[in-house]
Amino acid sequence: MLGRLLRPAGSLDLEASELAIRAAMHEVGGVLLAKVLNSDPGGSGAGVKCRAGHAATFVDYRSKEITTVVGQVEFRRAYYHCGKCGKGVVPQDEALDLVGTSFSPGVRRLMGRVGGKESFNEGRVDLEELAGIKVQTKAVERVAEGVGAELEALGQRERGRAIKDQKVVPLKSVAKLYVSFDGTGVPVIKRETEGRRGKSATGEAHTREAKLGCVFTQTAVDEKGHPVRDEAATTYVGAIEVAGEFGWRIYGEAERRGLRRAAQLIVIGDGAPWVWGIAAEHFPGAIEIVDLYHAREHLADLSKLVYGAASAKAKQWTTARLAQLDEGDVESLLVSLRGSARLRRRPKKPCAKQSVTSRAIANACATQSFVARDCSLVQV
Ligand SMILES: [Zn+2]
Repeated sequence: MLGRLLRPAGSLDLEASELAIRAAMHEVGGVLLAKVLNSDPGGSGAGVKCRAGHAATFVDYRSKEITTVVGQVEFRRAYYHCGKCGKGVVPQDEALDLVGTSFSPGVRRLMGRVGGKESFNEGRVDLEELAGIKVQTKAVERVAEGVGAELEALGQRERGRAIKDQKVVPLKSVAKLYVSFDGTGVPVIKRETEGRRGKSATGEAHTREAKLGCVFTQTAVDEKGHPVRDEAATTYVGAIEVAGEFGWRIYGEAERRGLRRAAQLIVIGDGAPWVWGIAAEHFPGAIEIVDLYHAREHLADLSKLVYGAASAKAKQWTTARLAQLDEGDVESLLVSLRGSARLRRRPKKPCAKQSVTSRAIANACATQSFVARDCSLVQV
């Protein structure tokens, strides 16, 4: 092997060498793993039962090839049959977490990891490049979705327990608990949008709205007095589902994180009505804040509506309002908004929360670098 790794001139091609040696080590590892795996194929037959608890009888030994982190390995194990259920029973597959799959737990973990971070095809390419594991794109998809489903079931159980039993993760209590959520369009394949109306020219939907939320805590501020998110204290939830379902999801997560022990609760979102609908239903009394990014966007949109797009007046107005926003001078900003002649009409729906949010605004802006929601701003 050394001879192959050295170039004719005697110099070393390091990259080719390290990859060749890794491949060779995997081969050696595969032989070793096969020995360990097949050291006891079972088959003594005593006391083997199917999942329903019936006695199963030994039939023969059967092999399947499994993909492991050190390559393909032949796995030979005892096969039983349950006459009552009419099904095969393979105790070793159950013991080694290999039921219904030809991928080892180690490979499935890696597939789930790449499949959760990039496209399934990119994940497949990375698996081969980084770990020397060759699999098909479809397999990455299937395994990643399986891992996702398992995580979802686990998360749902925990959130359900938090809501029902008031059981929370043992974290120290915090002064401020933030809940933030938003929706975003994610591109999906055709069968996922069948029967749904979209925004494209043909009326076909190419995306579906995924809702994402996070819960985090904050205890400290930086030298400028801006709040700093506590390190490693953010947890996330997300799903493609309607607002009603998502409300329970994010509420469950907040409960799990100790909603009831938080001295102050802050909900951050954009101006979308469903966001404030969830806030009203599940987080009444919370300080409601429109995040700075969306507040800026709303101000720019508003100036176009009032003064016309691309007009000098619109630009001037926006610049002045954004300056007030950046200063955190939300009270003045609201005065400017209300003072604008075209805005003097009453909002369609009078907002009962206005006085609460106004009070919260000064409070929130003094300590948090966000801007509180104001109904007249949102509804125009
Ligand atoms: Zn049975």
